[in-house]
Amino acid sequence: MCDKCEIGEYQNFDSYQTHDKFDLLLTQKQSKNIIIDKGFKNSANYLVCNYCNQEFFYSPPDQAWRGFFLKSENFIPPKDTDVTDKNKKVINWVIYIILVLLVIWLLN
Ligand SMILES: [Zn+2]
Repeated sequence: MCDKCEIGEYQNFDSYQTHDKFDLLLTQKQSKNIIIDKGFKNSANYLVCNYCNQEFFYSPPDQAWRGFFLKSENFIPPKDTDVTDKNKKVINWVIYIILVLLVIWLLN
């Protein structure tokens, strides 16, 4: 981490205010092309510093999920993520189909 991308690390965001402050800082660094968003990797946003090539993984909080922002060396990738994601997609489709069938059944 260099002084340009110095932004701190969060094992989790303990409140929405903490995340709001962090998000503002990250947005500023992204708009100045200091930290570059490289897309999705290991179920998190993969970010790289344009100056020192420090890699970061970022997951924004969402309802009960508290998210994190960590240097790559402190980030432990979730195991079997691809399988979990695929299962989630299948479950979502099954729920969707059941809902559609329910609606059709109710309308009849
Ligand atoms: Zn840097």
